[in-house]
Amino acid sequence: MHVSRQNYERMHVARQHTVTQPHWFERAKRTAPAPLPFPGLVYGPVRSRRLGWSLGVNLSPWDAKTCSYDCVYCQFGRTKRHISKPVKDAPWPRIQEVGRALRLYIERLQVEADYVTISGYGEPTLHPRFEEAVQLVCQVRDELLPQASTAILTNASQLLRSSVFNALLHIDLPVLKLDVPSEELWRVINRPAASLPSFGELTVRMAALARRHGEVALQTLVFESTVADIPTNASNAVIEQLVEVIRLIDPKHVQIYTVERPTSEPFIQPLPKARLEEIANFINQRLGQVAAAYT
Ligand code: SF4
Repeated sequence: MHVSRQNYERMHVARQHTVTQPHWFERAKRTAPAPLPFPGLVYGPVRSRRLGWSLGVNLSPWDAKTCSYDCVYCQFGRTKRHISKPVKDAPWPRIQEVGRALRLYIERLQVEADYVTISGYGEPTLHPRFEEAVQLVCQVRDELLPQASTAILTNASQLLRSSVFNALLHIDLPVLKLDVPSEELWRVINRPAASLPSFGELTVRMAALARRHGEVALQTLVFESTVADIPTNASNAVIEQLVEVIRLIDPKHVQIYTVERPTSEPFIQPLPKARLEEIANFINQRLGQVAAAYT
């Protein structure tokens, strides 16, 4: 999906307004003394089922969806810049802009939030200066929102880069994507960029992060499919195998959820709430109380 800068900004504004804002937000926006610079870089806070009020920081380039995956269910459409590691020739947000945008947004809108969450229009750990971006976000949080925690939503594909691994140790809640139990399904469902490490290497690194960090969460999106060559990842057989991979990683939490917005591929369908709860219960029976269904 290619978007103009104008549409990109509109998309973030639209996303921001699809959920209820806290009571103080509209008033704060009306009384903000001047337009905020760097639109699209900071958004929300949005009400998240998992994080409460979450203020988003978007580290992705504005011109085209940039990710190391091209998930069949992605809400942003097909990946245009499909890369396995950071590239320089893309309009990444400048590092100074990230800190300044976050600071101004919090100060001018008098934002309150439970989490400051690094995410984006793609994969945030692909930012060429990701480690510095994390430092800046943590610094602004410490100064202006000390009661808030930091979180990141990441597909975990960059964990073999030590700068990314180490940066994630400074984030209060790293949320790592794990939708499948095998390399074969990973290739079909998450559609990784060529020359990424193998699925096995990534899961070993996820386990290392979970061990070092202590608060890592896995996020598993389960869906139904109406085509045979891209199967559902919610069959009993797949979930049985997935439990074994989760056991290896040993996270603190497992978040089970399904699609809520239009998906990249039309044959992907949401699962009913009852099936999400069944899957979470099954994981909990095998591994203890780690999983919860988010509907
Ligand atoms: S990792 Fe996230 S942004 Fe990237 S394709 Fe998958 S769902 Fe979309």
